[in-house]
Amino acid sequence: MDGATRDLPPPLQGCLYCHSEGTTVLARSRKILGLGSDFPIVKCAHCDSTAYLDYQPDLPDGWRICYHRANRAPRYYYVFIHLRKAGWLSAAQALLASTNGFVQRARVAQTQAGDVSWLRPASPNPSLPLLPPAERVYLTLKGVTLQEGPPPGFLIRATAGTTLDSGKAYVTAQHLYLLGQRRDWSHPLSDIRVATYDETSWTVSLEGNERHYRGVNVSDQFDAQLVATIIDALRGRERRDQINNRPSGWGNL
Ligand SMILES: [Zn+2]
Repeated sequence: MDGATRDLPPPLQGCLYCHSEGTTVLARSRKILGLGSDFPIVKCAHCDSTAYLDYQPDLPDGWRICYHRANRAPRYYYVFIHLRKAGWLSAAQALLASTNGFVQRARVAQTQAGDVSWLRPASPNPSLPLLPPAERVYLTLKGVTLQEGPPPGFLIRATAGTTLDSGKAYVTAQHLYLLGQRRDWSHPLSDIRVATYDETSWTVSLEGNERHYRGVNVSDQFDAQLVATIIDALRGRERRDQINNRPSGWGNL
């Protein structure tokens, strides 16, 4: 990095959204019929994001940024929510969201490749009666509901269906447990038909009925993309373990 590049504010050194280096340029914004902004625009040639940048050279750390167009590919899930949808962000807020977005993308990619070693599963403390001592918890999720009815989709509101129970969920390598207000629930991961997510929530649908678990994004736990991806990876591992543990002879069928 040469001296001239080092003097530029971080959004012009590398893209805060996709983390490519040397792909951003500063352009004048165009006002059309009096609409638009007086701030110049940062454009990224790699991810095609654009953002207004409020920057004064005599205040190098005092810049602000406001994204108004951004790539919605799944690998940009975190930054879409925390940069694109966040409005104006201070330098510290934008850099934190960008750094977290980089970590999130790496974790999702690692998990999709079947590697959940970064999660460090542990025994709950205090222990839970519904959990066998040998099972370690990969995910603890607050505010989870078990619902009956079609899972939320394009034409179905999130509130559709009947809430059977709500409480705290625990995901191990073998089971999904819900410590509900009404009772405890337990499902082998092989009972899960699909784990999906959208911008606000994750949904785990069960085989053979219209029951599904849902949880919404909250600030102090993994977001919906990471939750659905981890559950998918654990399901895949559980399936592989079952195949590997089949009685000998099955491989010849
Ligand atoms: Zn970019």
